[in-house]
Amino acid sequence: MNCGVCGANDCEYFASSYDFEYETCGNRWTFVRCRRCENVYLNPRPLVKDLNVIYPSNYYSYGYESTVNKLAWKVKAVLDRLTFKKIIDILGYPPRSYLDIGCGSGRYLRLINGLGVGKEKVFGLELDGPAAKRLKDEGFMVEKERIEDAELPENFFDLVTLFSVIEHVESPKACLEKIYKILAPGGVVCFEAPNIKSLNASLFRDYHWGGYHTPRHWNLFSLDTITKVARPMGYEFAGLKRSTGHAFWLWSFHHYVKYQLGFKKLGELLNPSKCLPLVAVATLVDTIRAKLGQETDNSIIFLRKPRTA
Ligand SMILES: [Zn+2]
Repeated sequence: MNCGVCGANDCEYFASSYDFEYETCGNRWTFVRCRRCENVYLNPRPLVKDLNVIYPSNYYSYGYESTVNKLAWKVKAVLDRLTFKKIIDILGYPPRSYLDIGCGSGRYLRLINGLGVGKEKVFGLELDGPAAKRLKDEGFMVEKERIEDAELPENFFDLVTLFSVIEHVESPKACLEKIYKILAPGGVVCFEAPNIKSLNASLFRDYHWGGYHTPRHWNLFSLDTITKVARPMGYEFAGLKRSTGHAFWLWSFHHYVKYQLGFKKLGELLNPSKCLPLVAVATLVDTIRAKLGQETDNSIIFLRKPRTA
């Protein structure tokens, strides 16, 4: 399997892990590190025909809004607005057109529409058919397609976002190449992804890091890796926001306590969807660590297509 970020086929063993979160399969999975760009990737990967096995019907992002606690949801809405304020600051002007890849239930589409961008310029891509149809019925420009295959206007979008998406795709490189074509000159792509250089990732490197999300995260990289491959495509680095990895912290402890130490019930108490107070503590700790410039579990990386492109 070639590296999904730089395309090289030159890798070394990095770590192993199991599907601790959903237990959809019992086999051990291997992550390797690309010697050329340092991307850490799952090798081999699940087969396309098995995607419905590794993404079971209870997968968290399906029906996410109905499962999240109402208070947590309100906090999330405030954090979303702060995140978009930062995104628009980096873009440098209010976006006139927007695309969210993996738009789910459409909460970012509505947020941007609420800032005054007409629905005919608010686009989304979502592989969950019913979710895509609901948003289309609502008037948004949403299709059930992968970014690599979607027909989108070139040199058009001021802003493209991918939240917790790029680590799931086969080739982040192909994704970024396609996005470069559709961005307007001066436009920005911003994506949030797990950070393989985080403290949590190094403490739980073998088997238990929550960020592996085995076998659903296929490429795990750092800022250095992605900027190294994005530059030759034409992108300029536009900024970085460290974001919290509260769920990854709890998942790491969950996996360690339940599977390494063998305390099943105690481990299950650490499932982040069941333990709001611990989520709040982990969020606070990572927010402070991010402010101090430490490597947290997630980063939002901003890349710009130059104005003269
Ligand atoms: Zn590579």
